[in-house]
Amino acid sequence: MDSYNHKARKRFGQNFLSDPGIIQRIVSAIGPGEADNLVEIGPGKGAITALLLEACPRLNVVELDRDLIPILLAQFAKYADFKIHQADALKFDFAQLTESGPLRIVGNLPYNISTPLIFHLLSYHSKVQDMHFMLQKEVVERMAASPGQKAYGRLGIMVQYYCQVENLFLVPPECFVPQPKVDSAIVRLKPYSEPPHPAKDVKLLERVVNVAFQQRRKTLRNGLKQLAGAETLDQLSTDISQRAENLSVAEFVTLADELLQLGVKV
Ligand code: SAH
Repeated sequence: MDSYNHKARKRFGQNFLSDPGIIQRIVSAIGPGEADNLVEIGPGKGAITALLLEACPRLNVVELDRDLIPILLAQFAKYADFKIHQADALKFDFAQLTESGPLRIVGNLPYNISTPLIFHLLSYHSKVQDMHFMLQKEVVERMAASPGQKAYGRLGIMVQYYCQVENLFLVPPECFVPQPKVDSAIVRLKPYSEPPHPAKDVKLLERVVNVAFQQRRKTLRNGLKQLAGAETLDQLSTDISQRAENLSVAEFVTLADELLQLGVKV
């Protein structure tokens, strides 16, 4: 890998995996199968890509850095169903890849764009079989957090609305070149075929969760003031004198549905 004269770029969040043991462990957790419709975001120099292709010949990759394309081609052009999309994953239309079945998305994601990218990918939840990501450890903790925990908030609620979340294992900085300043972790997200607590209006749910967590130390009532007047808030069955961090996903859905019924719009 290092024979390529490519300098890691900070602005692309480039930390390349260099530990063969951890790469193997990640790919085992993914468990690629021959018939899968795999998509890798940010393949970099192909550390994970190589093992994925050994198990599954059909692989689409989305990579933003043009300078990495020739490096990927040199290694993997021999695979007829290997396809590179030089694009920004934040803007990429993943629906175009779903013709050959539900997507299995994987990636050692650039940490600076991980939250918006996860939200972008959640919009394809019905076409996704599962997702395995390497993220900053704290981001994985936020995704997997339960009510009452400090890490519980907007990210966890919206991810858990759509997906089952599993925090799999830690990956220390020594596994990368260059080494990141933070610990990383692998997370598995499996979208439900139907969300277990479907909201009547998901956009409103998102908005409610957003305003509720803007000041997480204050009561729900405080944040909800932005959406409705006191008269409306007084009609809610939810106890809004508590803090947002104490409400489960199901309770947020109930709250959003009630607000909708009381005439609150996004
Ligand atoms: N998967 C490789 C590289 C991880 S570093 C490995 O584990 O070694 C993150 C990768 O994401 C880099 O290749 C970087 O160029 C790419 N990347 C950064 N921003 C991106 C974006 N917006 N869309 C697609 N790829 C991006």
